[in-house]
Amino acid sequence: MIKVRNLTKYYVKNKALDNVSFSLEEGEILGFLGPNGAGKSTTMNIITGYLSCDSGTVEIDGIDILDNPTAAKKKIGYLPEIPPLYNDMTVRGYLEFMFRLKKVKKPMKEHINSICELVRITDVKERLIKNLSKGYRQRIGFAQALIGDPPVLVLDEPTVGLDPQQIIEIRRLIRDLGKKHTIILSSHLLSEVQAVCDKILIINDGKIVADELKTSLTGTGSATSKLHVIVEGRRQQVRSILQKVDGVTDVTDLGEPEKGCCEFTVNSRRDVRRLVFRAFSKTDFNILEMNPVEFSLEDTYLGIITGKINTKEAAADVSNI
Ligand code: ADP
Ligand code: MG
Repeated sequence: MIKVRNLTKYYVKNKALDNVSFSLEEGEILGFLGPNGAGKSTTMNIITGYLSCDSGTVEIDGIDILDNPTAAKKKIGYLPEIPPLYNDMTVRGYLEFMFRLKKVKKPMKEHINSICELVRITDVKERLIKNLSKGYRQRIGFAQALIGDPPVLVLDEPTVGLDPQQIIEIRRLIRDLGKKHTIILSSHLLSEVQAVCDKILIINDGKIVADELKTSLTGTGSATSKLHVIVEGRRQQVRSILQKVDGVTDVTDLGEPEKGCCEFTVNSRRDVRRLVFRAFSKTDFNILEMNPVEFSLEDTYLGIITGKINTKEAAADVSNI
């Protein structure tokens, strides 16, 4: 549905995007995750045809955005970082204005009414935009993006500045819209993309640093899982048994929680619970506790954006999740 190939963009001498490529199938919700200044808005502005790139191509449903911008743009509903609202218009007046601007060929009143129902702004339709809360304004931004029923939605940091209740409502709305639309959503918050997306792409410093992440992380079976174990037995030997388990990358000693016992965290490249169990079943040592520590994509994300993790290795790791 969306194919982005080798996008590079300079703002004068500052390279904002460096060879960014990714693609998205129909019906997917892609989370575009990265810290401030990573290049998310620049990418979205290029995908939606608002900004040109220095090299690379963007195809929306087979249509090149540069070759045929009008046709490609008809397929996209865009909610920019700051929704383009006119404060002195009523909600209805503004949506009718956008409807005409987009030259939509549908019965106007019904179309706008059904969008207002969907994003739940029907009760404020006759009010001036300037008098509405940030939550409502964001919904109006969604409404304008939905005018004309585009199959693709591009949402740039759609929950920034909202309160927790509004965030929950907007996320619910995005998940609902995801049933019928292909969506790209950007965020600098991992929790946000984990909450709503099928796929995550991490961008940092204009480059894609991790691709094809799945958000269905449970702490087990993940690429870098962590296990907390307490074993009754001699510390040195327990440590050495744990270190020898296939897939274990490092073992951290947490001390002696009770007499004769030792406590460790075990980092591994995959779920090693069964292997750990078997390793100890062959000895006289007893496992008293073994708990997967919630796997944190946050660790991976933070590691990547602070440059501690080799990005190639991380990309390979996370693609196995
Ligand atoms: P994000 O949306 O991930 O926060 P942006 O795409 O806005 O990142 O910005 C990427 C980089 O490009 C940043 O270094 C930013 O300072 C720079 N940049 C963005 N917009 C402009 C602009 N209009 N002129 C010059 N530099 C810009
Ligand atoms: Mg941005």
